[in-house]
Amino acid sequence: MKLLIKNGRLIDPAGALDRRMDILIENGKFKEIAASIKKASGCPVLDARDMVIAPGFIDMHVHLREPGQENKESIESGSRAAAHGGFTSLACMANTEPVNDNRSVTEFIIARARQVGLVNIFPVAAVSRGMLGENLVEMADLVEGGAVAFSDDGHCVMKADLIRKALEYVKMLNVPIIEHPEDHSISAEGQVNEGFISYKYGLRGMLNAAEEVIVARDLILQGRIQSRLHLTHISTAGSVELIRNARKLKTPVSSDATPHHLLLNEEMVKEYGTVYKVKPPLRTEADRLELIRGLQDGTIDCIASDHAPHTRDDKDKEFEFAPFGVIGLETSFPVTHDRLVRTKLLTLNRLVELFSTNPARVLGLKTRGRVKPGFPADLTILNLKKRFKIEERDFRSKANNCPFLGWEGQGAVEHTIVSGNVVYSLKAR
Ligand SMILES: [Zn+2]
Repeated sequence: MKLLIKNGRLIDPAGALDRRMDILIENGKFKEIAASIKKASGCPVLDARDMVIAPGFIDMHVHLREPGQENKESIESGSRAAAHGGFTSLACMANTEPVNDNRSVTEFIIARARQVGLVNIFPVAAVSRGMLGENLVEMADLVEGGAVAFSDDGHCVMKADLIRKALEYVKMLNVPIIEHPEDHSISAEGQVNEGFISYKYGLRGMLNAAEEVIVARDLILQGRIQSRLHLTHISTAGSVELIRNARKLKTPVSSDATPHHLLLNEEMVKEYGTVYKVKPPLRTEADRLELIRGLQDGTIDCIASDHAPHTRDDKDKEFEFAPFGVIGLETSFPVTHDRLVRTKLLTLNRLVELFSTNPARVLGLKTRGRVKPGFPADLTILNLKKRFKIEERDFRSKANNCPFLGWEGQGAVEHTIVSGNVVYSLKAR
């Protein structure tokens, strides 16, 4: 089992590499990385001339819906969507049915992912039993079972004392808490950002403060406990500022932003289009620009999709009754590359950090996010000259609730390689 990839431009920020390199893969692992590797007889060669090779992309915030809601998505359809989007690994959230709050669910997800055998799936377990915010799960047992992080995502851990205990516990286990920062008593029944759009359409609003009071609370606790805290789908300028200040005070914290919060604002919520109904809500243009500054100055570490598949029937409901969420696995790279890198807001190297190097570090995946001999051979190969158009018929996801449908631009995933196996190719489509 060998594969030789020749003539590509390898960008590996963890190894401070950005140059033309050949890569030899053997038995699912990187064997050799060198300026020129001779072709051996019988070894298949993938010519990556004019392509960019990145360590495999990792989406650290995905809802796969299995077990329990396989009509929305499954481990298999989600894996296909990930491979199509260039993701070799993903972390899946715990709000399945039943909730992933015990080892049997974690082990089921891992076993099912292995059967499907396309991308690496790392389960995130719930912080609290049943995600009810009352009692901690059996954290040590879940980590032993394969959970890489804990999150009640979908809900915030509202009790300060519970998140304090959780942070203290994961410090010993050396895994992160992924917080969905939302004070539910403030956001309440909110539908959209509080401001222009909520007034215009008479929809209930969600204040920036709903997010920021939890970001502030968690940062205060984390400043004392010095554990591992990751704040997910940051959406407001105030949150960016709080994280930036906490970093100056040497509080260990990481965070991510989603492509939809980076590229869309509340004004997109036109005509009650439920595809723009997300949590946290699309915010103002000023918030959006501050998120981009957060990516530029290193305050925000990762881009994560918050891939949240829903059926057409669910999203066709009236705005107030439709569920929150958009899909993102298949569009994250092309839209962010086109609108953030081609516009020179971010460098390509920085985008690779945001999609691979940093999520690997945050999740503690020591052998991912880096191209190094002996590590699993996960690669995302990009064709930056290729034009794309986001179209529903290309989706591998079961869902179509995508706010980028019809978007055109430049830069596509050419191949996705997991443990040396090509799990997606643009040309084979
Ligand atoms: Zn969330």
